[in-house]
Amino acid sequence: MVQMISTTQSEVGLSEVFRQVELVHSTGVYSKRPVVIVRGKGARLWDADGREYIDCVGGHGAANVGHANPAVAQAIAEQAQTLISCPELFFNDRRAALAERLCKLTGMSRLFLCNSGTEAVEAAIKFARLLTRRSEVVACMRGFHGRTMGALSATWDKKYRAPFEPLVPGFRHVPYNDLSALDQAVSDQTAAVILEVVQGEGGVNLGKAEFLQGARQICHEHGAVLILDEVQTGFGRTGKMFAFQHYGLQPDILCLAKSIAGGVPMGATLMVEPLGELPSHVHGSTFGGNPLACAAALAALDYIEENQLPQRAAELGAWFREQLAHIESPLMREVRGLGLMVGVELKQKVTPYLQALMQEGIMALPAGLNVMRFLPPLVIEQEELAQVVEAVRKVLSKPLSEGGE
Ligand SMILES: *Cc1c(COP(=O)(O)O)cnc(C)c1O
Repeated sequence: MVQMISTTQSEVGLSEVFRQVELVHSTGVYSKRPVVIVRGKGARLWDADGREYIDCVGGHGAANVGHANPAVAQAIAEQAQTLISCPELFFNDRRAALAERLCKLTGMSRLFLCNSGTEAVEAAIKFARLLTRRSEVVACMRGFHGRTMGALSATWDKKYRAPFEPLVPGFRHVPYNDLSALDQAVSDQTAAVILEVVQGEGGVNLGKAEFLQGARQICHEHGAVLILDEVQTGFGRTGKMFAFQHYGLQPDILCLAKSIAGGVPMGATLMVEPLGELPSHVHGSTFGGNPLACAAALAALDYIEENQLPQRAAELGAWFREQLAHIESPLMREVRGLGLMVGVELKQKVTPYLQALMQEGIMALPAGLNVMRFLPPLVIEQEELAQVVEAVRKVLSKPLSEGGE
């Protein structure tokens, strides 16, 4: 690869070479945009040709503290020179500090550390089954919880599920925000109800207070565990440190990942005290709780708190949504969101508009087929968001067709 790159760069440009090399070796499971990102700072990204972008993908929600955050970078560098590997066969100083910090912050008591969102959900499902000695799990339509077999069984979208069936038995889905459907689905056989407070992948759908609080009540009545999946909504994204804090909710199990460690891979499953201790050896992870990720997470938490990123997300998010709502375009159906988790629902498929936004130097995400999703780093400047608004206004000024532009 190095040879191919060094011999061809002069003729076709570096970006194209990296792109071709990745394409040749990719399994194909990702559909990638034709751009090679090599550097980031705050809410900006640069490609291999030096072009600059405002980033509203935000590492799919993993970049709340901004790209190349100096505090996180320094913590990683220092920890890398001290100790990287330390499985949970041993205790560790960084892990102890993080466990105490996360429990205090969430109001939870016990913590399992892993390496991704899907693993955090996987652990939550296993713990709920173990603790209740029941097997049924109720999840929501349009919910997304990850892609390993357990988490995938809780995920709704057929395009992720169908190729891998049969999935784990015992899962069913009810319409999001439909409390009576949830009430009917939950019984004394139910181990857990798993919910997002705001559905991310499913279209930036906000949970209604009475649905979320009703779910809490229904779980209490049936002795089922309420699992909140805050993998995407956690760490300031929605304008509070955790989205459940908007609704005065207390989950029994809480799943975290994405921005937990400033962009370093990490996931966490937290449990409330009444669930008690689990038997030893029932679950584990080689990399889980490694000191490198723990140090990064501690630095990210310091940064989020010192810079009041949740409040910043609340204020900038409200302003951003209001500006977007002022765009007059017959293509637009609705602007919605919480904090800096923002969706613009179109009356058409979103892909060509996302491509057009990229031409304008703005990276954004889809959510479902027809929602533009913005998950900028929470350090983004108001002036940068103003540029995003202008670009959205421009690309929504005329209809675009798929494959066009
Ligand atoms: C991204 C996401 C996951 C899966 O996280 P991975 O780290 O990609 O495994 C699970 N739940 C929600 C709500 C997510 O947004």
